[in-house]
Amino acid sequence: MAFIALGANLGDARLAVEVALQALGRLPETRLRARSRLYRTAPHEATGPDFINAVARIETHLSAPALLDALQALENAAGRERPYANAPRTLDLDILLYGDARIDSPRLTVPHPRMQGRAFVLHPLADVAPERVSAADLLAVQNQPITPMENDAP
Ligand code: ADP
Ligand code: MG
Repeated sequence: MAFIALGANLGDARLAVEVALQALGRLPETRLRARSRLYRTAPHEATGPDFINAVARIETHLSAPALLDALQALENAAGRERPYANAPRTLDLDILLYGDARIDSPRLTVPHPRMQGRAFVLHPLADVAPERVSAADLLAVQNQPITPMENDAP
């Protein structure tokens, strides 16, 4: 079981996140088990238009590095460019948790080092894994504006 954070703030961000959610379920050896609501958030330590964010819970037999490869391929397919750190992005896919694994390699840190302290991660994560998010975690980000989107049924 792994949790993937999805974010986009360029072009049709909502469509990009919806398409990516479906694509996660079509990765090899992978199933989409649950998806959060979509959220709209103002950029946090980033620039550009508002973000659309979500979190997916997947079950996968891909290794964590293979999963990262697959996520980066989806980002590239969505037209992701990286002109500078925290630039606006058509699609960002981050591994938040990979089972109970702790990974600290040059290209992969799991649990994601910046998941705490980010409302745009913690609120959607609480939708799909309430046991992983404490009231104190949410209290710590209550000053970050975030809005669950209405009518986001598939
Ligand atoms: P951001 O930090 O804004 O998500 P990028 O998506 O460009 O920036 O990712 C930068 C690098 O972060 C990737 O090339 C990847 O190797 C690395 N990385 C480290 N840990 C993770 C993780 N848990 N999930 C996704 N990428 C990660
Ligand atoms: Mg990323």
